[in-house]
Amino acid sequence: MTKQTLNELRGRVDEINLQLLSLLNERTAIVQEMAEEKGKRGIKKYDPVREAQIIAELRKVNQGPMTDATLIHVFKEIFKVSVKLQEEQDKKKKSLLVSREAKSEDTHININGDVVGNGEPTLIFGPCSIETEEQVELVAKNIAEKGLKYIRGGAFKPRTSPYDFQGLGVEGLKMLHAAASKYGLNVVSEIMDAKDLAEALPYLDVVQIGARNMQNFTLLKAVGQIDKPVLLKRGLSATLEEFVNAAEYITSHGNKNVILCERGIRTFEKATRNTLDISAVPILKKETHLPVFVDITHSTGRRDILLPIAKASLAVGADGIMAEVHPTPELALSDAAQQMSIEAFDEFYEKLLS
Ligand code: PEP
Ligand code: MN
Repeated sequence: MTKQTLNELRGRVDEINLQLLSLLNERTAIVQEMAEEKGKRGIKKYDPVREAQIIAELRKVNQGPMTDATLIHVFKEIFKVSVKLQEEQDKKKKSLLVSREAKSEDTHININGDVVGNGEPTLIFGPCSIETEEQVELVAKNIAEKGLKYIRGGAFKPRTSPYDFQGLGVEGLKMLHAAASKYGLNVVSEIMDAKDLAEALPYLDVVQIGARNMQNFTLLKAVGQIDKPVLLKRGLSATLEEFVNAAEYITSHGNKNVILCERGIRTFEKATRNTLDISAVPILKKETHLPVFVDITHSTGRRDILLPIAKASLAVGADGIMAEVHPTPELALSDAAQQMSIEAFDEFYEKLLS
């Protein structure tokens, strides 16, 4: 065989390869279409009987020089590609909007110019409950002096006992909003009932959904339709799957700006108020694209370990921290035992930065 003939043959093989590639892609497109149809009708994607029939037919017409064994090998590989492709299509379809599969980049949330989730930790402090104008003014001033951008404070309080302080409602929110506006802070506060949303929204920058309402689906759907970010707390006994699905309720109703907040779960341990599930942070970061915060106060219920818990949370990748601060914690109308005084807060903050 001359060199020229060999080159000619090579040229033909190259041409056939291109034809094969084009045919294989044409086949793939048809398989995708079939998978779509099978999905709609609930028919299983992989059909070994049909696969055996196709191979039997091909063997009948095979005139070589390719052996039957090679034919079987080649076509089984082609079938495998189809099955894999269909599985990937299914997985993509089933994946939640909040999942990394659906969106690989981190969600950044712009809150009046401050960006949550961009690598800089967001720090949210403030009293458990809004009590008086002076109380929120003192805390707001201190937060602003630290150069921070957020204040929290509950106006609708989910209390275990119906006889305990239930919060000041919208009047409380007005107080918090006034102090926050004076010091250029964003307001984070919990809403417990969808019917209060419209009246409360003008005074809020971030709507908190509390642990006890993580599966209040009516409320989740309602905050899914607002244009302000939502900080969603993990339920007291919620699995991460349930937590992520709760976030999906919000995003699937239109609001993509959701922050997940781990706040401890119920376990048998009594040394802390709840048990901080620290592994939830990297798991949620890996499986979703949403910012993940840790509420170091409610997860521990202990002022004496706030600093190491805050550091640990940031070390495992939390995008933010929330903690309670009150000018006179011992007189607080809720969570008196766990809030930091302003002095303790100063010390905490200084050590957190160092
Ligand atoms: C709160 O942050 O005020 C609160 C009640 O927290 P949780 O819903 O996590 O108990
Ligand atoms: Mn509290």
